Amino acid sequence: MTFTRRAALALATSLVPLLSLAPAALAQEKGMVGIAMPTKSSSRWISDGNSMVEQFQAAGYTTDLQYAEDDIPNQLAQIENMITKGVNVLVIAAIDGTTLSNALENAQAAGIKVIAYDRLIRDSDAVDYYATFDNFKVGVLQAESLVQCLKERFPDQKPWNVELFGGSPDDNNAFFFYNGAMSVLQPMIDGGEVAVPSGQMGMDVVGTLRWDGAVAQSRMDNLLSANYGDKHLMGALSPYDGLSIGILSSVKGVGYGSGDLKMPCVTGQDAEIPSVKSMMAGEQYSTVFKDTRALAAVTVKMVDSILKGEEPEINDTSTYDNGVKVVPSYLLEPQSLSVADIDKVLVESGYYTADQLK
Ligand code: BGC
Repeated sequence: MTFTRRAALALATSLVPLLSLAPAALAQEKGMVGIAMPTKSSSRWISDGNSMVEQFQAAGYTTDLQYAEDDIPNQLAQIENMITKGVNVLVIAAIDGTTLSNALENAQAAGIKVIAYDRLIRDSDAVDYYATFDNFKVGVLQAESLVQCLKERFPDQKPWNVELFGGSPDDNNAFFFYNGAMSVLQPMIDGGEVAVPSGQMGMDVVGTLRWDGAVAQSRMDNLLSANYGDKHLMGALSPYDGLSIGILSSVKGVGYGSGDLKMPCVTGQDAEIPSVKSMMAGEQYSTVFKDTRALAAVTVKMVDSILKGEEPEINDTSTYDNGVKVVPSYLLEPQSLSVADIDKVLVESGYYTADQLK
């Protein structure tokens, strides 16, 4: 029998429904991933969620992505719901890294693997892996850029008057950022090059619950009125762009950045759009960029290996003790950005379009 053109066409047409079913069938075969993110109020977590959904789907998985708007019971309910739905893996960026133990015991009992995403989940042995950036280094980079700016902006005015801000005390990362930064700043404080006029130091005093920019802004207001009547604030160590924006609003409110009151050096993290724009306007000095596309890619690879029964690639087996076990981790490199790096690192790489930064 000759294989006629018509037969070929008929065969091709009959394959169409099968082909269009292929991705769904493949996804079912590969499994479902529950992705629990903390909040949409910070754009970095939106980028993380979008990158993961895109990359997991491209790799043949279905996803259930949930945001909990920084509400702990809400995140717990979302995770419980994912367990009930029968996800194969949970990827969790916790709001409070210490409150998930019970939910995770249920996941473990159901044979669901758990990956802590960016933030370590503490006090639980049900955490299998941790995908993150080198968080201590983030703090080092923040302090180094603070010092760089102080040298440029206030070359002959030592000691440099600086105030310190920490992240949320229920987020393990906040301590790594603070300790990394203090590894650079403490020797300078001890040596008299840097002063902290308020005397407020230590995560128990400088922490900012839920990374809330409004809280940082009102703390800065109070610091300024209590300590800077006759002093010039020259720098603020800020661990996150959302706090930096609050700190900058506070200092601008009392006249910094106009007349001869030079703007203090303010650091940040995440390269969020308002902060990138603030850098372009000469306000925020720096940020630390952590490419959420790369973190998503590491996480997808980890899940793929786990579900194939293979050992995922890790590059750190000593740093992240969650109180119960040292969680095997993959750490990516953070990158310090000043205004000169914005085009190359953020626009040319496609992280943002030039229009988004206008
Ligand atoms: C993340 C930072 C982020 C902060 C606030 C931390 O756990 O590592 O990238 O700035 O949370 O969302």
